[in-house]
Amino acid sequence: MPNLQADIVVIGAGSAGCAVAGRLAEAGIDVVLVEAGPDYGPSGSGRWPAELMDARMLATTHDWGFASGRWTFERARVVGGCSSHNGAIAAVGHRADYDSWGLAGWTGADLESLFATVVERMRVRTYADDEVGPFHARCLTAAAELGWRMASDLCDLDANDSFGLETVNVVGSSRWNAAFAYLDPVRERGYLRIIDDVLVERIDVSDGASRVLGQRHGESFAIECGTTVVSAGAYGTPALLQRSGIGDPALLVPLGIKVVTALPGVGQNLHDHPIVHADRTVGPQLQGWLDQAAAAGFLPEEQTLGKALSDQAADGLYDTHVFPVCASDQTSIFHGRVHVEVACMTPRSRGHVSITSADPSVAPTIEHGYLNDVEGHDLAVLRDGLVRAEQMLDHPALASVLGRRLTDMSNDQAIRDTVAHYYHPVGTCRMGDDAMAVCDAEGRVHGMPGVVVADVCLMPQIPRGNTNLPAAMIGERIAATLVNRHAS
Ligand SMILES: Cc1cc2nc3c(=O)[nH]c(=O)nc-3n(C[C@H](O)[C@H](O)[C@H](O)COP(=O)(O)OP(=O)(O)OC[C@H]3O[C@@H](n4cnc5c(N)ncnc54)[C@H](O)[C@@H]3O)c2cc1C
Repeated sequence: MPNLQADIVVIGAGSAGCAVAGRLAEAGIDVVLVEAGPDYGPSGSGRWPAELMDARMLATTHDWGFASGRWTFERARVVGGCSSHNGAIAAVGHRADYDSWGLAGWTGADLESLFATVVERMRVRTYADDEVGPFHARCLTAAAELGWRMASDLCDLDANDSFGLETVNVVGSSRWNAAFAYLDPVRERGYLRIIDDVLVERIDVSDGASRVLGQRHGESFAIECGTTVVSAGAYGTPALLQRSGIGDPALLVPLGIKVVTALPGVGQNLHDHPIVHADRTVGPQLQGWLDQAAAAGFLPEEQTLGKALSDQAADGLYDTHVFPVCASDQTSIFHGRVHVEVACMTPRSRGHVSITSADPSVAPTIEHGYLNDVEGHDLAVLRDGLVRAEQMLDHPALASVLGRRLTDMSNDQAIRDTVAHYYHPVGTCRMGDDAMAVCDAEGRVHGMPGVVVADVCLMPQIPRGNTNLPAAMIGERIAATLVNRHAS
C-alpha cells in the first residue's frame, strides 16, 4: 500500500472517531480515518451483517477478544466501533457529572447543545407503549406500585430517580450506529478517506512531523499528517500511546520502548460501572407470552430502566441503574431466566491498561480493580441496589409469572464473586493539568500538541449513564476545536 498524506488522521472509527472524522470532513478538512476492522459501507449498502443491525440483543462477532481472569472485555473491531454491536441504549448521564470535571468548556451547560445534536444524529427515541413486551410491561406496573416516579424521558441531563421506557438509538428494529450517523452524510463528499482493516502499530512524532504507522493485509504503510487524532477506545488508545513512547517510563523502558514523552497517567484511571444482578427463572405462562410477542415482531431484551438513589448518594442524585432483562430467543443468555441488573453509576474503584510488549498484536493487560475502593462505596451502592431489584422481582406483577431464584446475592462475598461490568470502560488518558493527567481540555496530549485524543479515555470520571452518546459528544467537541484551530 502506498504511503499517504492528510491534514488529519483519525485512528479508530468508533463512536467518537466517526463523529470527529465526519465533522472534520463536513468542515472541508482533508481527513483519513483508519480502522482495524472492516467497513461495510453506508447504512443502505446491504453489506452490514444481520447481527450488527439487529437491536434486540448484543452482537458478539467483530470483537477484539480482550479478557482477564473470569472477565471478558468486549470491544468491537469494525467501522462504527462499539456503537455497531452495543445495546443501543441512549443516555447522557447527569449534568452534575460534567460539572464535576472542572474543565473549561465541559460543564453540563457547555455540553447541552452538543448532546442535542448527538441525540438527533443518533436518531434517539423512546420505545413506544405498543412495542413493550409482556415482561417489561409488568416491570412498569411493579415499579409504579413500588413508588418509583415514572420517567417521560430517561435521556435527559436533568432527570433524577425515576423508572420508565428506555431511550434508544434504534430505527425500526435496527441499531443506528455512529458510522451511519456521522460518516454516511460525508462518504461521497470527497474530504474523507476511510481505510479499513488497518492495525495501527504506533505514531511516530520524533522529528516534529507526525506519521501513523500500521499494517494492512500484511503490508506496512505510513500516513504523514499535521495532526493525529487517537480514537482507539478505552483500551486501544492508551496501548497505542504506550507503543509510541508516550507513557510511564517505568513501563516503557523495560519493554525496550524509547520514551518520547513521559506521562505516567497513560493507561491509569481505568473505570467502568460495576454491575451485579438478581434473577429468577421464567414461568411457563410468561414464556408463552414472550414467544408469542417475539413471533409477532420486535422484542428487545432491554426496554425499561430505573435510576435510583442508594444510601451512599450524598448529592441527592441517583447513583444506581436498575434494569430488567429477559429474552425469548433461545440463543440468548437470558432465555428461560430474567435478570434485574444493578449498576453502580458513581464508581470510585480504579484500574489500569498496560501493554506487555511493543508488538501491537499482543493484547494489553487490562486490570479493572472492580470494588477495590478502600471506602467500600461501590460495594455498598450495589448492595442497596440489589434490595430494589429483589423488591421488584417479588412484586406480585412479576412474582406471579416468575419461578425460583437462581443466584443467592444475600451477602457481600456473592457480590464480589459475581461482579461484572456494564461495558463502559473510560478514563485512561484523562484530561486535566495535574501530574497524572494525560491531555489538556482540548484533548491535546501534554507536551505533544500534534497528538489529540478524542474518545472516552478523556473522561476524568465516568458520567452516571451509558457511554455511547457521551463518546459521540466528545468526538463532536474535539472536532469543533480542531475545525477552529484549522481555520485560524
Ligand atoms: C457489548 C457492549 C454493549 C454496550 N451497550 C451500550 C449501550 O447500550 N448504550 C451505551 O450508551 N453504551 C453502550 N456500550 C458502550 C459504548 O458503546 C462505548 O462506550 C462507546 O462506543 C465507546 O466509544 P469510543 O469511540 O470511545 O470507542 P470504540 O467505539 O471502542 O472505538 C474504538 C475503535 O478504534 C478501533 N481501534 C482500536 N485500536 C486500533 C488500532 N490499533 N488500529 C486501528 N483501529 C483501532 C477499534 O476497532 C474501534 O472501532 C456498550 C459497549 C459494549 C462493548
